[in-house]
Amino acid sequence: MDKQRDFVLRTIEERGVKFVRLWFTDVLGTLKSVAIAPAEVEGAFSEGIGFDGSAIEGLTRSYESDLLAFPDPSTFQILPWRGEIDPTARMFCDITTPDGEPASAEPRNVLKRTLAKAADAGFTFYTHPEIEFYLLKSSGFGAEGPEPVDRAGYFDNVPGGTAHDFRRRAVRMLEDLGISVEYSHHEVGPGQNEIDLRYADALTMADNIMTFRTVVKEVAIEQGVHATFMPKPLSGEPGSGMHTHLSLFEGDVNAFFQEGAQYQLSHIGRQFIAGLMRHAGEIALVTNQFVNSYKRLWGGDEAPSYVTWGHNNRSALIRVPLYKPGKGGSARVEYRAIDSAANPYLAYALILAAGLKGIEEEYELATEAEENVGALSSAERRALGYQPLPSSLYDAIKQMEDSELVAETLGEQVFSYVLANKRREYEAYRSHVTQYELKSTLDVI
Ligand code: GLN
Ligand code: MG
Ligand code: MG
Ligand code: MG
Repeated sequence: MDKQRDFVLRTIEERGVKFVRLWFTDVLGTLKSVAIAPAEVEGAFSEGIGFDGSAIEGLTRSYESDLLAFPDPSTFQILPWRGEIDPTARMFCDITTPDGEPASAEPRNVLKRTLAKAADAGFTFYTHPEIEFYLLKSSGFGAEGPEPVDRAGYFDNVPGGTAHDFRRRAVRMLEDLGISVEYSHHEVGPGQNEIDLRYADALTMADNIMTFRTVVKEVAIEQGVHATFMPKPLSGEPGSGMHTHLSLFEGDVNAFFQEGAQYQLSHIGRQFIAGLMRHAGEIALVTNQFVNSYKRLWGGDEAPSYVTWGHNNRSALIRVPLYKPGKGGSARVEYRAIDSAANPYLAYALILAAGLKGIEEEYELATEAEENVGALSSAERRALGYQPLPSSLYDAIKQMEDSELVAETLGEQVFSYVLANKRREYEAYRSHVTQYELKSTLDVI
């Protein structure tokens, strides 16, 4: 720890860093930043930096508003987009109350608590997200909606295209920030791109996702385009998912792998999937947190709408991917509901809690889906016992309200904040008269 602090202080000196940004995240997943002078960093490590938590969405109640931010030296990085003139660095923070307790409503602390629970059971949780997003010509839009930067599709190589330069620049910046990228490619929608991050422990990954979103926004500004992680920005085009590959390790051993089992999937792996399936509806308000998220989930285009699992089945909610023989360490399951606008700390905490519940309670795994789930009739789906995911934000609120698992994992404060915030969002949406209604009804009657 002290070594890491020394390294940070030395690097600030050697590289002439002029500003150090302290980062943390509010309950809805918005990145917060406060810049401090290099001379303040040593004090920030030992005493923290005070701020008014009640001004941050969901963090505190106003009568207990004082919080402290302690920068985590292991997350120190120099920001590659700030140039050479006034080099700027960042660190993620641990947020505490004035008496040094972790602030219970802070999303990073929620994930840490859940990871500690997994550690008690002997598990480390790794994740690897495939992050989809759209590049638009600008943030403005007319009656037809926003305009994507190109008309290309899946894996298209767009000559001289914006997307190419964009991905190259973004991947380079991510690597400079110590975030490894596995793949990047054009996605199915016009202007839609995907960048896949190399797996890491879930806390590091949640930090990486917050950094990723900032990098993508910064590169967009640099290149004169607009990037969005909105779940479904264009009607009739695919939404932006954040499929996440999940695995549990016991020491060096992948707990999801078992030689000779069906799909080499261990008993623990099966129970983990069963836990995710049983609780998918309850956690949806966090994995899919906006009114707009449900337009992706129910809009087809390989987004899951029903609670199913399958081996390499891209219409299922959970996919057990194929992997090369001898690569037991890479055994994993892919959770496909979560979208690119989720708060990664809270979503990963709930995904982990759901899977652990399946292991603790030894849930039985349902039969796998071998068909295209979206193409079945509703009678066929009923006969097979496939339950729908929540059909709207309203439905997701209803399912989360009754969830003990979610209340316990998020803690009372975040749980009630999320519900209150989402009820407000749904009420505002429900009373709004949309373009669609005007177009389809104004002249009809
Ligand atoms: N965009 C799709 C989704 O919303 C995923 C497409 C894909 O990567 N196969 O989940
Ligand atoms: Mg992919
Ligand atoms: Mg994809
Ligand atoms: Mg995928």
